[in-house]
Amino acid sequence: MPSLSALQRAQLVDKSTHDNFDLIIIGGGITGAGILLDAATRGLKALLVEQEDFAWGTSSRSTKLIHGGLRYLKQMEFGLVREVGKERAVLYKNARHLVRPSPMLLPVIKNGSLDKWTSSAALWLYDRLARVDKNERRQMLNRKETLSKEPLLNKDLVTAGGYYYEYRSDDARLTISILKKAASLGAVALNYCRVDSFTEENSKITGLVFTDRIRNKKLKAQASVIVNAAGPWVDQLRTKTAGDKSGKHLFLSKGIHLVFDRKRFPVRQAIYFDVPTDNRMIFVVPRDNKVYLGTTDTAYQGDIGFPNITATDVDYLLTAANHMMPSLQLTRTDVESSWSGLRPLIHEQGKDPGEISRKDEIFISTSGLISIAGGKLTGYRKMAERIIEHVYRYLPSQKTHVPSKTEEIALAGGEFLSEKELHQFISDNRKHFKFDNQLVDELVFRYGTDAAVIFEHALNKNGTEEDLIQSEWTYAVEEEMCYYPSDFLIRRSGKLYFDRPALSNIFPNLFNYMKKYLQWTDSQEIYARKSYEQAYHDSLDF
Ligand code: FAD
Repeated sequence: MPSLSALQRAQLVDKSTHDNFDLIIIGGGITGAGILLDAATRGLKALLVEQEDFAWGTSSRSTKLIHGGLRYLKQMEFGLVREVGKERAVLYKNARHLVRPSPMLLPVIKNGSLDKWTSSAALWLYDRLARVDKNERRQMLNRKETLSKEPLLNKDLVTAGGYYYEYRSDDARLTISILKKAASLGAVALNYCRVDSFTEENSKITGLVFTDRIRNKKLKAQASVIVNAAGPWVDQLRTKTAGDKSGKHLFLSKGIHLVFDRKRFPVRQAIYFDVPTDNRMIFVVPRDNKVYLGTTDTAYQGDIGFPNITATDVDYLLTAANHMMPSLQLTRTDVESSWSGLRPLIHEQGKDPGEISRKDEIFISTSGLISIAGGKLTGYRKMAERIIEHVYRYLPSQKTHVPSKTEEIALAGGEFLSEKELHQFISDNRKHFKFDNQLVDELVFRYGTDAAVIFEHALNKNGTEEDLIQSEWTYAVEEEMCYYPSDFLIRRSGKLYFDRPALSNIFPNLFNYMKKYLQWTDSQEIYARKSYEQAYHDSLDF
């Protein structure tokens, strides 16, 4: 049985109601996915349930960087810099198709938050703490060198520059690649399954009641331990069980990003720069033919699933970009797409959103519910390791402790031993197709070695560009539990954010293809159209 297939989803859901799991994880973001993989590699029988699509929450709405943690230096969180620096190297080794080195320019400006000496010292310390590879250690640049790296920068402001490395990723694809790996090791991951309540015996949690939202069916599942990895929804779930309303709680901070066509925003490379109005810094990150700008950091208290983007949020980013790169004169009409996400931070009395620690924390309720919140994409593996150590304390005593192995485990599609192997794989596959090869490259960076399945499928037809496009859809359904067009257009391919103008051509064909292949019911067909229309609208609504 393919392990993450939408075609087998119904059987997987029904089977999960009869099994007795060691562990059930609530939440299919990167935190939950990481826990599922850690559990599977230690031989635990684990189930993950996600109320919408995988990575639907914060894990598809971040800045998409695998940080070395430079910004944590400001808050003197040296331990965190050390940990995320190491994790970044592990992730690059285990998923190099998805975690790409990206040189970052840090302009030093008049009256900025850092001068030439403090930025040089900060980057030096960062290189050491994060154990940055020798080839990627920071360089300090003079004014002329900085402006020649990025001629768009404001010549009246820049006095020098730092040059260091961040790693670019795709948060949703990373999450799905972790889930695929976990599923290949026997774990079960189910999307569109919303947890409604818990079952308890003698005030201890024994399982949960959930709704299969695709078939509109209420079901139950049982496990020795339940982990709440519901990101911004962690507190909501904690209040569903007795005796867990006290103690620390979440603070939700909103961050938005704006996407532009690269022709309109022709940066040569990624930049991390000062906002003139406050003490914050923001990123501009090129991604193929597009560029994105972000992020904001403001307290949020609205609908958790759909954090809105206001004109104030947009103007804050545009003003900062126009100040640093004045020849651009960007306006709201230049924005092609956008997204908004919520950081599930741990509340700290009297601190502004930007000052609150990004550390993760574990809460254990008297009923036995283990909750985890806070953290970053970058640190997901260590968070998972820590959670599973807690889980062992609640498992029946005959379960032998097995140490975590994930440091050595390649994620799905990440079986490249070197950059050379990755590029060889690309050039070998380019030869099979006669049309412009950008699509082949894109597929390799999306699926890694798993792209071979898509290439083979297309070549078994006529190997045309059309065949390759449709083979990717087939793969998403058969191997990544993609059920609706918005799942594909947002979280499997990122097209809603990075190719929005092309969607009116893609959507009708994709819709008809999925409708036929998955044999949607009438209500599923309505949902498929509505969820796409809402996401399309929300991605440019301010
Ligand atoms: P989520 O991804 O939100 O996952 C929780 C899931 O639980 C959701 O999918 C939700 O649908 C599900 N759920 C909720 N309730 C239920 C229920 N009742 N039943 C079933 N499922 C349920 N980190 C980095 O390392 N690098 C960055 O560049 C970066 N940039 C960021 C930028 C912004 C603007 C934001 C907001 C965050 C950023 N982060 C970054 C942090 C990172 O994105 C988050 O820490 C991470 O994605 C949180 O993942 P999660 O799995 O805990 O939460």
